[in-house]
Amino acid sequence: MQVLIIEDNQDIAASIYDYFEASGYIVDMAADGVTGLHMALAKDYDVIILDLGLPGIDGYELCRRLRQDPHRLVPIVMLTAKDTLENELEGFKSGADDYLIKPFALKELAARVKMLSKRVNRTSASQLQIGDLSLNMDTREVCRAGKQINLNPTLFKLLAFLMQNPYRLIKREELEYAVWQNNPPDSDALRTHLSNLRQVIDKPFECPFIHTVRGFGYKLMDNKAKD
Ligand code: CA
Repeated sequence: MQVLIIEDNQDIAASIYDYFEASGYIVDMAADGVTGLHMALAKDYDVIILDLGLPGIDGYELCRRLRQDPHRLVPIVMLTAKDTLENELEGFKSGADDYLIKPFALKELAARVKMLSKRVNRTSASQLQIGDLSLNMDTREVCRAGKQINLNPTLFKLLAFLMQNPYRLIKREELEYAVWQNNPPDSDALRTHLSNLRQVIDKPFECPFIHTVRGFGYKLMDNKAKD
């Protein structure tokens, strides 16, 4: 699991770093807003721990800029010394998912991070679920809104991989590899299969789950969950 800490206070940053690294996380650090934003845009982190008061651009602004990309749903925990309700509302409006007032216990921060990361975590469970769409790896049953959907083996593989990696940007090559390993058919095969998959799991329903990130790949997400 990869976590990005954006915090200019060296002592706080170091203690968070040590705690998370010791817990088995892969941790990156930035000490100012601009560096933090660049790092956050360059890599798909599982969670970002973001200080509010930062040199360069502050936590609110950074959050706002990250959220300008509607596909970038990385959970953000905002850290702040200011504990007024007003600030809290401002933080959530700018797109933070959770909030922690300094000083806080590292254990508490870790608990919040763990909870948020579940949204983007890969799962090994046989029953996969996103919104009203479910897929069972054992019975190979796929349902959306209570209706059973029949998929051919290729479409099933495709959907299973997407559902094992929700809320994560998946490159075309990664999806091709998941379905065909090193022997993908022609270059348009993935596009065709995704289009067929969309016809059955998205098109008949109100809210699509498969999103195209132009120039990069695809992301499976439930937009309703963010409301
Ligand atoms: Ca600060």
